[in-house]
Amino acid sequence: MRYRTLTIAAVIGIAVQTNTQAQERALPVREIASGVFVHEGRIELASSDNDGAIANIGFIIGTTAVAVIDTGGSVREGRQLLAAIRARTSVPIRYVINTHGHPDHMFGNAAFVADGVTFVGHHRLPQAMATRGPLYLDSFQRSMGDALLNDVRIVPPTRLVDGSLALELGERTVIVKAWPVAHSDSDVTVFDRTSQILFAGDLVFIRHIPVLDGSIKNWLDSLDDLVALPARRVVPGHGPVSDWPAALADQRRYLGTLATDIRRDVKGGRPIREAAEQAATTERQRWELFEDYNTRNATAAYSQFEWE
Ligand SMILES: [Zn+2]
Repeated sequence: MRYRTLTIAAVIGIAVQTNTQAQERALPVREIASGVFVHEGRIELASSDNDGAIANIGFIIGTTAVAVIDTGGSVREGRQLLAAIRARTSVPIRYVINTHGHPDHMFGNAAFVADGVTFVGHHRLPQAMATRGPLYLDSFQRSMGDALLNDVRIVPPTRLVDGSLALELGERTVIVKAWPVAHSDSDVTVFDRTSQILFAGDLVFIRHIPVLDGSIKNWLDSLDDLVALPARRVVPGHGPVSDWPAALADQRRYLGTLATDIRRDVKGGRPIREAAEQAATTERQRWELFEDYNTRNATAAYSQFEWE
């Protein structure tokens, strides 16, 4: 079916686009377990220099289907991921799972739109993408340049996860699990039973300071459920692939410190700005991009604790 589509496309003159895609260099990926591949994004803010390739993205190959986990921060990165997959297997890509709706995880979706490919995500993700997608596109086009991002399309999932969903890839099953509002309002994790690798999306940050765009309280509460997953290793949303659950300790300490500091300041009536500047400063030396996100995290946490 896929080949027939390509042939027709070539006949009616879309061949140029197909060729461009085929020529895209393959994204460097590492096989961290048999059939499980990861590209580790740079621990940086998204920019035109890094093509937005700052998140960890990957894919899992079964005997009948490939599942892609996040597509990167630009269509270019998505196409490079596609080239990396095609260099390793001819098994069809059946699923593209978005761990959530932040641009660095889904701006590459357009590279995977094809017959037979189902986009999978949290049941709240279509709404999140509809609300935030155009705003992200607008602000990222301004900061990263039109040339890189003008082919980005917001592609929402059609297979929605509420609770958990098993995807059969042929001799291996992956479990997609939807979480309560935590890092964002639409986080899912992907667990490969065969390798016991957990793709945690941005529910887990390592070395890169955690970024709060959901609920600090729920996120902290979710950590115990995350730890209970029978994983051996984790692919965090940002940071190195690591042993599980040891890798979670730093994030637990950071979020716990932030929550304690902010809760105390809200109770003590400290103004939000002052509180945000002082919160979790004991963590400053322990994280990359601390200055870029800590004040924002603290401000978000403050408004949440005000309502307690
Ligand atoms: Zn995120």
